[in-house]
Amino acid sequence: MNAITEPLQPEHKISFVLHGVAAAPGIAIARAQLVSNATLEVAHYDVAESEVAAEQLRFDNAILAVRTEFETLHERMKGDDAPADFTAFLDVHWMILTDAQLAKEPKRIIAEQRCNAEWAVTQQMNTLVEQFEQFEDAYLRERSHDVVQVVERIVKALMGKPSALPITNLAHASALVAHDLSPADVIHFKETSFAAFVTDAGGATSHTAIVARSLGIPAVVALHNARSLLREAELLIVDGDSGLVIVNPDAHVLAEYELKQQTQVLEKQKLKRLVSTRAITLDGVTVDLNANIELPHDLKGCIEFGADGIGLFRSEFLFLHREDLPTEDEQFEAYKTVAEGMKGQPVTIRTFDLGADKRMPGLGDRPSENPALGLRAIRLCLAEPKLFMTQLRAILRASAFGKVRILIPMIANSHEVRQALAFIERAKVELSTQKIAFDQSVPVGAMIEIPAAVISLPHFAEQLDFMSIGTNDLIQYTLAIDRTDDAVAHMYDSLHPAVLKLVAMAIRSSIKANTPIAVCGEMAGELRLTRLLLGFGLRNFSMHPKQLLTIKQRILTSSIADCEAAAAKVLRTDEPEKISVILAKLNA
Ligand code: PEP
Ligand code: MG
Repeated sequence: MNAITEPLQPEHKISFVLHGVAAAPGIAIARAQLVSNATLEVAHYDVAESEVAAEQLRFDNAILAVRTEFETLHERMKGDDAPADFTAFLDVHWMILTDAQLAKEPKRIIAEQRCNAEWAVTQQMNTLVEQFEQFEDAYLRERSHDVVQVVERIVKALMGKPSALPITNLAHASALVAHDLSPADVIHFKETSFAAFVTDAGGATSHTAIVARSLGIPAVVALHNARSLLREAELLIVDGDSGLVIVNPDAHVLAEYELKQQTQVLEKQKLKRLVSTRAITLDGVTVDLNANIELPHDLKGCIEFGADGIGLFRSEFLFLHREDLPTEDEQFEAYKTVAEGMKGQPVTIRTFDLGADKRMPGLGDRPSENPALGLRAIRLCLAEPKLFMTQLRAILRASAFGKVRILIPMIANSHEVRQALAFIERAKVELSTQKIAFDQSVPVGAMIEIPAAVISLPHFAEQLDFMSIGTNDLIQYTLAIDRTDDAVAHMYDSLHPAVLKLVAMAIRSSIKANTPIAVCGEMAGELRLTRLLLGFGLRNFSMHPKQLLTIKQRILTSSIADCEAAAAKVLRTDEPEKISVILAKLNA
């Protein structure tokens, strides 16, 4: 028994197992660290009569601090680049903050109830949210979220916390347990050291899960009520391979998992010998293995695991861990770092895919019943031309420092392709006029993530240089399963016959059009699908760096002839069970 597994309290604990969705592989043995950042949970304590004035002053100071934050943001937004939505959002938050209902009423509550300021302001928030929720008008109803966001800022100012996420408890390995985490929250994990995370919400390809995979820490999502069942500091085994969380395991289970954990560590070490080996099948076919990244900081992993290039740079993550918009120069520096760091290997920068589960307050943040079907990705960029132009200029400038490619997300029709290309041309003309260097022939590609795009692919291929299949969204839009909704997470199925037919069709159309195609969705890193995708004709995979060597090992032991035969069988059947059997044989 080591420091982690030693009981913190001597009393006997009941052991039980929670079943969720495996979101990031691996096994962690760690103590639960419960957090709440979706809903505010603040302390409630009494304040002596003599302390009421001081408590009210503490509240006034917090309001002042948030006002200053808003003023600073407003100043930064004054430039031409600020999207109209963003400034409008700031104005709404300013109005809420300065309204007497929020700026004054909590002071009355402090005096009347003799309570602390955090408690008073959240009490008032609940009253206001209730009032907003009564409105008939959907827009006004939605504003209750703004009230919550403003109050979250005030509470943070009161508690002197810059971020809602906790600091890792370094005394023992911690598994973060939350109801839900946004992709922006998880990106903070890059600077902390949690051993695992588990959430009640989310699905296996929600961006939260994707970031967890990129961090290489085990994760289980869609547990529905882990947050209420687990206690602080309880011992957990987080099994990210099978989607289990074992709570208070007994000594036998613990020993079994410790052994599994050690075996996995050894296997990973053994794979390291493949870093500089090319991925070539038994019959001599070379396959490109590229990496997906979220931030320039991820470059390290690409080099460590021998990526052939970057197949997907999710540039919107430059936005998600901050409250204002990155300037052209800031973006340029980020793209240039990656372009130079990859030393002539291709770097595919996807233009912002904001919206849906990657929301930035005030940007494309209009009320929407179905955000995944709303103003997202290229739609948002075309609606915010200044934002788009700023990014395109930054990417083009970086293209002078490496082999940069531009990838446009969520393309649904040829009109969007033409519009995106026109913007790129405009950005090129501007830079040429300003005598700023860039690669004149920077390749431009589209993400194939919507069934309509698969069907229209031959038309897109006439205008574009390459394609990349985003299977995460392709599955979501084909099966009508929200990839972030834990209630339907079990129905999200990469082996659905319709999904496989669409992926095969996209690859076939692209090959026919002589246009290179990759898969950069999570299917590219799914070991059980590697040979099937090879059989469909795929020769370019892009995945999180940590998955590269496992997939490479599978490719090195694959025969294209066998893969093609199995792929043909898979495409002929409509029965998921048969598909599983064919794949099991192919992978045996
Ligand atoms: C995809 O949809 O498969 C994809 C790679 O893009 P994202 O996961 O960022 O939506
Ligand atoms: Mg996508």
